[in-house]
Amino acid sequence: MTDIDEAEAARHREKMKKRKEVQDAEVASKAIAEKGLLIVHTGKGKGKTTAAFGLALRMLGYGKTVGVVQFVKGAWHTGERDAFAAFGDRVRWHSMGEGFTWETQDLQRDVAAAEAAWAQAKALMADPDVALLVLDEINIALRYDYLSLADVVETLRGRRAGLHVVATGRNAKPELIEAADLVTEFEAVKHHFAAGVKAQEGIEF
Ligand code: ATP
Ligand code: MG
Repeated sequence: MTDIDEAEAARHREKMKKRKEVQDAEVASKAIAEKGLLIVHTGKGKGKTTAAFGLALRMLGYGKTVGVVQFVKGAWHTGERDAFAAFGDRVRWHSMGEGFTWETQDLQRDVAAAEAAWAQAKALMADPDVALLVLDEINIALRYDYLSLADVVETLRGRRAGLHVVATGRNAKPELIEAADLVTEFEAVKHHFAAGVKAQEGIEF
């Protein structure tokens, strides 16, 4: 172990004391105790969907019920789907997508799938048991105009008090960002796809 002299230890104590005061004041300044948040995960970097599922897992830890609606994925198997199945009816899972648009190449089918997913999302929003709702890749459905942006933003703004909603996907619409409480832009610094590495089990799906 490194030797720490008394002067250094005292400096550290003083610094931490000051930091704690700042921290405590910051916490005390927050007047809103509880609020259902509208959260947006966007950007080109990897981790938007998995971070949303991390929040779902955190909520499940409190014995709550979560909803998941997948707007794009669903045509293929993922590890998270099986893992969340272990929570039984505390996870309301709906994969409504038909796969990526460039795979289906059928506009009418894509629009119908997005609309069915959105109807499912509305039903889950109305269910008082649901504490957190993940709208996975809804930004993609909005980007391609498969859904009415005005309807989505208005419905999300009018969500029941206490309900947390996480919307994921690249190219989030400015109107959605405007309506949100918490927005994170995932930045791509490096991705193994660029080096020719295929999608990995447990990492990508
Ligand atoms: P994840 O589902 O792993 O959290 P994500 O939701 O952020 O990723 P999407 O935009 O939904 O990413 O893309 C789906 C897939 O594309 C992911 O499996 C991911 O590995 C891959 N991907 C994400 N970002 C990049 C990138 N910058 N370059 C190449 N592939 C990417
Ligand atoms: Mg995603």
